Amino acid sequence: MKTKEIKTDVTVIGAGTSGVFTSLHLLTKGYKVSLIERSPRIGGALVNSLVYPTAGFHSQNFTYFSSPLVEKFIRNSIENNLSLGHIKDPLRFSSTITPIHPTAYKILTNQLLNNKNLLFFPLSEIQNIKFQNQKIKSIILNYQNEKYEIKSKIFVDGSGNLITSFFIPLEFNFDLQNLQALTLIFKISNVDFNLIVKDIKNNPSEFYHKTDLDLILSQNFLSVSGYYSLAKQYLDNKELLLTRDRFLFFSDIDKNSVVVNTTRIFLKDIHKPENFHISELEKLAYKILLKQVIYIYNIMKKNIEGFRNSYISEVADFVGIRQFRNVKGLYTLTLQDIIGGKHFDDNVSIGTWPIDIHISNSIKEGKVNEKGYGVPYRCCISNYKNLLFVGKNISADNYSFSSLRIQATLMILGENIGRIIESCLNKKIYPLDIDYSEIKKTVKIIQS
Ligand SMILES: Cc1cc2nc3c(=O)[nH]c(=O)nc-3n(C[C@H](O)[C@H](O)[C@H](O)COP(=O)(O)OP(=O)(O)OC[C@H]3O[C@@H](n4cnc5c(N)ncnc54)[C@H](O)[C@@H]3O)c2cc1C
Repeated sequence: MKTKEIKTDVTVIGAGTSGVFTSLHLLTKGYKVSLIERSPRIGGALVNSLVYPTAGFHSQNFTYFSSPLVEKFIRNSIENNLSLGHIKDPLRFSSTITPIHPTAYKILTNQLLNNKNLLFFPLSEIQNIKFQNQKIKSIILNYQNEKYEIKSKIFVDGSGNLITSFFIPLEFNFDLQNLQALTLIFKISNVDFNLIVKDIKNNPSEFYHKTDLDLILSQNFLSVSGYYSLAKQYLDNKELLLTRDRFLFFSDIDKNSVVVNTTRIFLKDIHKPENFHISELEKLAYKILLKQVIYIYNIMKKNIEGFRNSYISEVADFVGIRQFRNVKGLYTLTLQDIIGGKHFDDNVSIGTWPIDIHISNSIKEGKVNEKGYGVPYRCCISNYKNLLFVGKNISADNYSFSSLRIQATLMILGENIGRIIESCLNKKIYPLDIDYSEIKKTVKIIQS
């Protein structure tokens, strides 16, 4: 088979939360981008795993953080009735949440694909990555039964699973025993919200202790974390590898529907070192989690009055993987940084979300600085001259990772990495050689 050679300014792996905004910025500036995606479409976790609601735009003291393209995206979504915008978090876990319908991302997809400078490779499989002298030279991939060699000046890994580390020598964190849970999110429709509100009103001790019923009512938006006694009876099911202490679900944008985030398994329970491949693990996880979906739904329908006449209206196409490998970069963000609210000259995003570790059967939570904290560019680069990392791939310890892995933080980060790449291309320098103190002039973080 003859290899087709493609040359673009930048190659981005992963059309998800962060990679989309890196690509979008570069395309708006007229650069040619190859976007490599193994799934059929753009959107990543938000679309393929139904992750919802988007969060992280406000710090605990309600300071707002965004970036120009991200803000435009949210505004468009609101104008098209695909997002409720920023609302207060009825669980009082964080300050705000931002419910966005997956279709909003699909609309963004079309805007992206309309650009003549984008070469999009959906359903493609990376075969190899060529490198020399700490520089990535090209990516070899299979796409539509043809072999391609993609050459670029700069490469970005936004795969969420650090796919580059399977092909090139890279230092990364992967603590199998302490990785966060995998979840298959699903949607239930024809739910009677009033009956659920009644449950919260009548039995507040059955629900997360900070639940604010007045907010649920005034915003007409359900955030439910609880039914603890019911969970105790059913959600410790060894056969399904299910251990959970609560039912967790949120109002969907679609009326009378909820998005359920209750299934879970741990990678350590299905991981076999002798037969390790991420796509195999995902397939196996999906099989088990789909059984959990049916099991959990039946418990809800049978035992919670508000679900009596409901039905499952959607199940995510892909398992949601909260944490996998993340790179050891030039800087590793730490627990101390996020609690102390540290800021850096080379900030590329601002983290706001509390520490939120989905481990064992529960959630380990903790506060971060109420004004938010900076995420430096150095977390997005290691020792390769022309390779950057965005999204869940970036360098962070387990605690800071659990906070910065949230969508708003990673969208802003993705866009700003796009800006830095633009600057590198203009100056004809490698991302590793950029003067970190110069980054402040390049990055755009909206704050109000
Ligand atoms: C269960 C769950 C619940 C969550 N809840 C929330 C929440 O309530 N609010 C919130 O804001 N965030 C939440 N998050 C976090 C958030 O969704 C993710 O951390 C975020 O989307 C990660 O963005 P990303 O760009 O790193 O990766 P993703 O959005 O996952 O994008 C990665 C992309 O890379 C592609 N890819 C992977 N491997 C390859 C490859 N080999 N070749 C080509 N492409 C590849 C994937 O298909 C995907 O499109 C949750 C996450 C999970 C898993």
